[in-house]
Amino acid sequence: MNIKYDKAADAVYILLNKGKVFKTVKIDESLIVDKDKKGNVLGIEVLNASAGTSFVAAIEKGLTGGIPVMVEYFEKAREVGLYEDRMMRKVRAMSRGVLHPFDCRATGAQLAISPDGSLGICHEGVGCKNFFFGKVSRDFVFADEPLIQEWGRRSPLTMPQCFGCPSLGLCGGGCAYSAYLRHGTIWAVDDKFCKHSLTVLEWLIWDTYSRM
Ligand code: SF4
Repeated sequence: MNIKYDKAADAVYILLNKGKVFKTVKIDESLIVDKDKKGNVLGIEVLNASAGTSFVAAIEKGLTGGIPVMVEYFEKAREVGLYEDRMMRKVRAMSRGVLHPFDCRATGAQLAISPDGSLGICHEGVGCKNFFFGKVSRDFVFADEPLIQEWGRRSPLTMPQCFGCPSLGLCGGGCAYSAYLRHGTIWAVDDKFCKHSLTVLEWLIWDTYSRM
């Protein structure tokens, strides 16, 4: 992926794939998507990029539009025998009929240690020390730390917002830190990931059906 900002035009171009642009689709006033002959997304242009929130909203639309691209890449990787972990977690849950309750190691299965010896849950918080709670010490007991216990409970299986969701068993709940950044709490749904999860579920159903 390559991102360029044209100051004069106040436009950002996100190049996702190289290729010849066959079709340009105007999604709305601030978002244009370039596609090739087969319908693959080559790039996303965001207009009025300096307009703050509309820029973020446009990027989100672009990312949502990118989810089918992730599925398409998975299909290509599968054809040549490559393992793509993000999708395979869900494929595995579906094909084996097992639950996939966590998608993130920070939910009780990892410790982040910053260069100054601070201990935390998620490496994303190293710079600002969000969700960091102490220093490396011989007395530290992983399982006793309240933050680790709380993050360890975060799963769609414990979040009422997710209880009626068809993707409940294979979602994993995405990124707790992303949910916190967008909504101020790790107990919110990670919206971007949620769309990914639902898209993958639909694809999995049709892919399985096409092989029957
Ligand atoms: S797809 Fe969305 S609503 Fe469904 S379990 Fe995942 S995060 Fe929750």
